[in-house]
Amino acid sequence: MNPIVKTVDLRKSFGAFEALKGIDVEIERGDVLCVIGPSGSGKSTFLRCINQLEVIDSGALWVNGELVGYRRKGNKLHELSEREIARQRLSTGMVFQRFNLFPHKTALENVMEGPVQVLKQVRKQAEADARALLARVGLAHKCDAYPVELSGGQQQRVAIARALAMSPSLMLFDEPTSALDPELVGEVLGVMRDLARTGMTMVIVTHELGFAREVASRVLFMDQGQVVESGSPEQVLGNPTHLRTRDFISAVLS
Ligand code: ADP
Ligand code: MG
Repeated sequence: MNPIVKTVDLRKSFGAFEALKGIDVEIERGDVLCVIGPSGSGKSTFLRCINQLEVIDSGALWVNGELVGYRRKGNKLHELSEREIARQRLSTGMVFQRFNLFPHKTALENVMEGPVQVLKQVRKQAEADARALLARVGLAHKCDAYPVELSGGQQQRVAIARALAMSPSLMLFDEPTSALDPELVGEVLGVMRDLARTGMTMVIVTHELGFAREVASRVLFMDQGQVVESGSPEQVLGNPTHLRTRDFISAVLS
């Protein structure tokens, strides 16, 4: 079967600084890939490239079997139009560290927004789906609450429901619990754990190594714009090959 994400020598620079120095990764359908690594190692940039929030400089990236951002005609690559890029972007859902919900909309309206505005779903259907999704993240009773009335953990669960409402084939999480008070981390990880059990393909940047160990099918350690090592959670977290991985893990655990 084709991988759902494939990158070959993916590179991305910001000015003279090379943030991704040739990333080769394959993510299979149903994989839960946890990406770990020090601050500035390129984890967010990697997710942002997959979601086309960044344009890659060189190498190639496929999502869902489609070359991202380009179409091949004969031997030439042609840039896709904004419209085609927007269509491609729909196949990935992204959850950020900060929840960025619409403050003037209720939880229900936040979840319905994309399906109604972008997917042009009928309101009634979108509402029923949104209620079911909010129930799935444990927030059936908060449909009519505004973001300010919700805790950080609840807001993040709404953000997950909102991403799921677009029926993505892949979910990307960029440190989804780092901005939360410690007592709220568990409820968000719980929702992600349930999602992983349903077979959703997920790429999760996280410093929650216990969670990674339990939920990940694969762990990938990045440092300085490169993949240093990847493998099973037991291997990468329990018995890392590289000194840099070992140093990072002990720093996080200390
Ligand atoms: P991580 O998520 O692992 O902390 P990032 O992917 O955010 O790392 O960043 C990798 C490197 O690229 C960092 O050194 C960061 O400062 C730099 N970087 C990221 N985005 C930009 C940007 N838009 N402009 C300039 N530098 C950036
Ligand atoms: Mg980051």
